[in-house]
Amino acid sequence: MIGRKSLFGPLDPAADAGYTDAPKRKGFFTDTSVCIGCKACEVACKEWNDVPENAFEMLGTSYDNSHSLNANQWRHVAFIERPASKPAVDLGMPSVGAPVSDVDEDDKPDFQWLMSSDVCKHCTHAACLDVCPTGSLFRSEFGTVVVQDDICNGCGYCVAACPYGVIDRRRGPEGDPKVGIAQKCTLCYDRLTDGQRPACAAACPTESIQYGDVEELRERANARVELLHERGVMDARLYGNDPEDGVGGTGAMFLLLDEPEVYGLPPDPVVTTKDLPRMFTRAGMAGTALLIGAALSFVRRRP
Ligand code: SF4
Ligand code: SF4
Repeated sequence: MIGRKSLFGPLDPAADAGYTDAPKRKGFFTDTSVCIGCKACEVACKEWNDVPENAFEMLGTSYDNSHSLNANQWRHVAFIERPASKPAVDLGMPSVGAPVSDVDEDDKPDFQWLMSSDVCKHCTHAACLDVCPTGSLFRSEFGTVVVQDDICNGCGYCVAACPYGVIDRRRGPEGDPKVGIAQKCTLCYDRLTDGQRPACAAACPTESIQYGDVEELRERANARVELLHERGVMDARLYGNDPEDGVGGTGAMFLLLDEPEVYGLPPDPVVTTKDLPRMFTRAGMAGTALLIGAALSFVRRRP
């Protein structure tokens, strides 16, 4: 049923999709403040999901060699260089402790790296799913959004609809049966049904990627931001955790150390199907007005 709530606003996505006895909604909390850029998450994702390797190459603009999320990159660890305008602080790395440096203050580089492992947001209101004409994209009982690549017909509606630019159709190599087919993170649906964590979360050595119940992750994320603020990291903020935002909140939330735009994330994403009910109402009104006009002109012309 398409109700007012099912296209916009906070809700439980699995219940909205018709699951009556669903488990608690599952998701990711990616704490970028403890990411060390090792890319173990990227590799684990490729290994488990049989995602082909990208054309790994250095672009000359960054030490990042996997560039962006795309059909062959379901997790992407961005290396963002920014001027070292702020002094380094102890971020409280789990089980590692603050690094001890014997480098002279004057010899320190004048830039800092922000590292962040990006992924599909598993939106509460997922435009990719709303526009898919084949039912290839579906809402799982865990509240996540999954692609069935054997049903996808490659129309690409989902690619244009995603407000984050996540989902993508696979390009070459020639002869690969999945060429032209939409691909993205499934939050390791097969592992979840088996009671396991997604591969990226299991591989992350610093617990930058945490998996669990979305509600509980949100509490954990808020506590972490509070702790960082107490330590003077006033730029720490959460992204994707607000059920009142333009996509009804996401199943993948991120702790960022700067504005979302710095990480290439849209600051205020809105589900692209939000205005559909209003568009249908207006189209209906326009159609009715047209019919009334045609009927009136017919009546007036009669002798
Ligand atoms: S981020 Fe994009 S691909 Fe992922 S669920 Fe949301 S709309 Fe779909
Ligand atoms: S595995 Fe963890 S620490 Fe390594 S790049 Fe991925 S998120 Fe960062």
